[in-house]
Amino acid sequence: MTQHFSDLHPPRPERAALDAAYAQIRRDLDAGTAEARAGAFARWDRERRLFESWCSLAQLRFSQDTTSETAKADRDHADRLAPEATRLDVEIKRRLLAEPDRARLEAELGAHRVRLWETDVTTFEPAIAPALEEEARLAADYTALLASARLKVGGEEVNLSGLAPFQESLDRDTRHVAEQARWSFFAGHGARLDELFDQLVHLRHGMARTLGFDSYTTLGYRRMRRVDYGPGQVAAFRAQVLEHVVPLVGRLLEQRRAAQGWERLQAWDESLVDPLGNPRPAGGHDLLVERAQTMFDRMGDGFSGFFRQMNEGGFLDLRNRPGKAGGGFCTSFPDVGWPFIFANFNGTNHDITVFTHEMGHALQNWMSRDLGSIDVLWPTMEAAEINSMGLEFLTWPHMDLMVEEGAAERFRRMHLVTSLAFLPYGVCVDHFQHEIYANPDMDPAARHALWQRLERLYMPWRDWGDLDYPAKGGRWQAQLHIYRAPFYYIDYTLALCVAMQLWLLSRTNPELATARYLSLCARGGSAAFSDLVNEAGLVSPFAEGALAGVVQEAAAFLEL
Ligand code: ZN
Repeated sequence: MTQHFSDLHPPRPERAALDAAYAQIRRDLDAGTAEARAGAFARWDRERRLFESWCSLAQLRFSQDTTSETAKADRDHADRLAPEATRLDVEIKRRLLAEPDRARLEAELGAHRVRLWETDVTTFEPAIAPALEEEARLAADYTALLASARLKVGGEEVNLSGLAPFQESLDRDTRHVAEQARWSFFAGHGARLDELFDQLVHLRHGMARTLGFDSYTTLGYRRMRRVDYGPGQVAAFRAQVLEHVVPLVGRLLEQRRAAQGWERLQAWDESLVDPLGNPRPAGGHDLLVERAQTMFDRMGDGFSGFFRQMNEGGFLDLRNRPGKAGGGFCTSFPDVGWPFIFANFNGTNHDITVFTHEMGHALQNWMSRDLGSIDVLWPTMEAAEINSMGLEFLTWPHMDLMVEEGAAERFRRMHLVTSLAFLPYGVCVDHFQHEIYANPDMDPAARHALWQRLERLYMPWRDWGDLDYPAKGGRWQAQLHIYRAPFYYIDYTLALCVAMQLWLLSRTNPELATARYLSLCARGGSAAFSDLVNEAGLVSPFAEGALAGVVQEAAAFLEL
């Protein structure tokens, strides 16, 4: 029987019950017998899966309706309990790491999990629990503030997700008006957004200092569970993007400007990638879901049955509606092994890429559900984004199903151009955050000036025209990750460098590309990023020449 989303009822966690369950785990570990120890590991994993499932459900319900008081109360409950759950987990991890027989622990759990825990335990002390709770509250305030946007454009009232069709309209004035609507919302809430971010930066810096780190950057990397590279390698990668990608994107945009006969390419022209108009999806929600089934049927057993069950089980919420949080994500219910996809279809090509992207995450998560521990259910995010972006590229041959008639090749070209053009922006967001956390006492004006300076470095073509707010450096406030997930953003650019290798391979040997992709998904988070990439026969983005190589091939494909 198919598992149905509406049948999921993980028990609501309470502090007393959590404490009692963990006390039992500790007693079992104290008992010292192999049997009690195995029982403790199993019980612990089960407790963590149940807790995470309930929290995922609470966060999801809130994203589905940010105006619901019940959803908000449940989400607050999850945010309040999360530091307590972390405290209990860290206590057990520390205890196990302190055992004299490290070899035994590694044999039981695998060396990678032990390495993850060594990182995890440095990111928490009970003294920072109130700050963690406050951080979650501020992050949720950001989401709710953006979800409250009601923008008037083209005689319609839309939220930020609903703005996309206007932002990439063939009509230049419509694009301009859409960007005006967007930035007047941000200008109107600029002071609040500055204040929220200022609070977040100081909270994060304070947590880092309490834990004994100089700045939040070290703590941020550890919270991302990066065990195999540091800020130095990331800075070198950003420099590679500056050297190899920025000039290429500049050429692309100059070509577009000349072809359109525009005197200047304005910021609102950048979303119109295809001179004939960005190809639209083949239809609305129902048709796309139906076509997606055909697409995954054609892609083989690894994809077909899984998508059928996701759809029939109600694990998709893809329609845009008022009050729904923006963006798209994949979450999971590890007690039952099922993922869930959240998106906001808006009638543009993004519907297709968001969907294939999140399906990649979902497939990985589902394939990893039995790897033995919730610790490795998800890889670190730069590896996870290969699972998602990889599927964006591997679905290319089937785009005739998903895109409006006759536009599949144009869609593929647009997808590649958009992917390349994303890299400079992606590293700009990352660079900004490194500067922010190195200088936590910057005032809001200095933060805007910093963004403006970095934008000129990585996107020298950007011309905001009469859009004063972003022209003065306010663009970063629209980037959710800067508020909610510090240091996450570079992960998309690292992953893209690997996903594009899968794309290149798929053009000459599609079977091998799919096999490598599925084997990567099946490995979940059972190794560090570089190891996962190498094991899948791919090259780390930190390797000499890796980025330049794929970018050169992409330029050749685009005949640049
Ligand atoms: Zn993703």
